Amino acid sequence: MDLEHIKGIGEKTIEHLYKAGIYNLEDLLTYYPYRYQILKPTSLEETKENETITINAIITDVGKVSFIKRNFNVLRFKAESYGKILSVSIFNRSYLKPNMSVGREITLTGKYNALKNSFTASDMKLSKLESEKIIPIYHTIKGIKNASLEKIMGNALTGERVLDSIPEKYQKKYGFQSKQETLEIIHQPLKVEELERAKKRIIYEELFEFMFKINYLKLLKESDKGIEKNIPMKKIEHFINSLPFELTIDQRTSVEQGLKELASPKKMNRLLLGDVGSGKTIVATILSYANYLAGYQTAFLAPTEILAIQHFKSIRDLFKNSDISVEILIGSMTKKEKTAIMKRVENGEIDLLIGTHAILNEKMHFQNLGFIITDEQHRFGVSQREFLGKKGEKPDMLFMSATPIPRTYALTIYGDMDTSQIKQKPQGRKEIITKLVKEENLKEVLLKTLDEIKAGHQIYVVAPTIEENEENDLKDVYLLKEKFDLAYHSKVPIGILHGKLKKAEKESVMNDFKLGRTKILISTTVVEVGVDVKNATVMIIFDSERFGLATLHQLRGRVGRNDMQSYCFLICKEEKERLKVLEESNDGFYISEKDFEFRGEGDLFGERQSGDMTFKMANLKRDFKVLLAAKKDSEEYIKSKEYLEDVNYKKICQEIDFTN
Ligand code: ADP
Ligand code: MG
Repeated sequence: MDLEHIKGIGEKTIEHLYKAGIYNLEDLLTYYPYRYQILKPTSLEETKENETITINAIITDVGKVSFIKRNFNVLRFKAESYGKILSVSIFNRSYLKPNMSVGREITLTGKYNALKNSFTASDMKLSKLESEKIIPIYHTIKGIKNASLEKIMGNALTGERVLDSIPEKYQKKYGFQSKQETLEIIHQPLKVEELERAKKRIIYEELFEFMFKINYLKLLKESDKGIEKNIPMKKIEHFINSLPFELTIDQRTSVEQGLKELASPKKMNRLLLGDVGSGKTIVATILSYANYLAGYQTAFLAPTEILAIQHFKSIRDLFKNSDISVEILIGSMTKKEKTAIMKRVENGEIDLLIGTHAILNEKMHFQNLGFIITDEQHRFGVSQREFLGKKGEKPDMLFMSATPIPRTYALTIYGDMDTSQIKQKPQGRKEIITKLVKEENLKEVLLKTLDEIKAGHQIYVVAPTIEENEENDLKDVYLLKEKFDLAYHSKVPIGILHGKLKKAEKESVMNDFKLGRTKILISTTVVEVGVDVKNATVMIIFDSERFGLATLHQLRGRVGRNDMQSYCFLICKEEKERLKVLEESNDGFYISEKDFEFRGEGDLFGERQSGDMTFKMANLKRDFKVLLAAKKDSEEYIKSKEYLEDVNYKKICQEIDFTN
């Protein structure tokens, strides 16, 4: 079902959802809360210091709003709770002021300071909380408030049903609830106890579907007829030699493996694994060039618009001296623009089309598609039968993934699938020197940073996000700026980036940094800093213990994009053993293994926005037993051929294979 048919979803909301990679009902309903907030009124006596609590209170003085900066205000008022009159402050809720009145009952969530008898609220509702309430908390989608998302989910649940991915046989075997029931519990839980069971089902479902796809891909591998392509090796060698850098050995090997399969009558079904920054894009680019020279079109699919645009820009640049015509197609383009591009694809005027998966939802016909590249392997296919090559031959497929799945798991998961791995970093890259620094020793970081600024380099700062969902992070970005201004006597130009800025403002902030007008860029992690600033040599991450190793590794990857020595400072309250892994190593594979050891998959797959996440709820390490069961079940399911009768699996097979 399309998103526009869901009640309460307007055009603007759809736009925001698309940007978050949510294109249909299923994407929406599988956008699971990452945690739940349990609201139950606490009494002030029971609270421990620094604990976030929820209390009922009555307004005794409506107070006033102070506007501190654009997008930043504080509302201060008085309220009575448990016989105490509290001084309450809350950020960025000026809009609640008109509805406040003396005597009104409210619910406050935040921290109580008994000494000052003050309450710093992170949330406030203009009604009394009667009993326990469970609120699902979602990862922020820019432009949509958590409460709105809650409502949207409610509406989506009353609409059309999503297909059940667990075959009935296995539902019975494990005694699972129906999918509908499960989704209702996940998005609108009434009791904490029912959540566990619902989660179990979703984890199994994800792993079953995942293993089914892999097993099905393996099955196809044996029978698929591909397109035998004529590859002019000389021209490709020439192109490789014209690149601004030399390929690493792993890149060369991956290119050779790919070329061999493009030329073979067998269909390519290859997985290209490599750490962020290891240079997968160039491998895909060379292969798409070969495919073009052989006379075929290439489709390059990215998981998000931002990544699509990034690929488009860098690939177009690599091809600037060649005849290949490269275009981009993404959901946010106008209908007119899209239609024009689609027409040119149909006429064969476009050789390489880069876009998000949204392009596949449109009625798209290639003239002679010969090669499909999917960035992030978990999204397999999602295509339609129109994507056939000539004469019923199937396009070659390359799946790229920045997710370094540790060897032990990779073997279980991929088994004998064709994989290429890029392990080395491009030459000339210096290892990023990484250091854990306790908050109280921030001064040494500030000094080092100043040296780097004096040397003409630039600095990234990632601000702590207390709660991705709360607006507190805004406060922290501005507080940090004040800190830096104080330390450097306001002599260093600083840019600020956060989710509340308008698109144009964001672009101008990024542009200033890119052009070196600002030397320091402070941002929240909610914001994707897509810019590639080669001049940046320092990355400072505050509250680093809040992040998983993989996320930190990815953030760190924004510096060290040149031959200068770069640094990463992980600011923390206490030096965690886990974080020391980053001091020791710049190797994403090693880090991912360690991340597994320390905390399971955790956020191994990065933040959702980065498009690196394979599973929404399952965790390979924690749920390894379930994975093994799902693997066995799915193999049995394929062998039994029962999937041929299952509407959902017929669809999944069609998405992977294009001839079914
Ligand atoms: P990935 O997609 O694997 O994360 P990219 O393909 O985006 O990495 O490459 C990261 C950066 O490294 C790009 O700026 C790219 O131009 C550069 N790069 C790729 N291969 C090499 C190489 N062999 N030598 C030097 N730089 C390279
Ligand atoms: Mg990439």
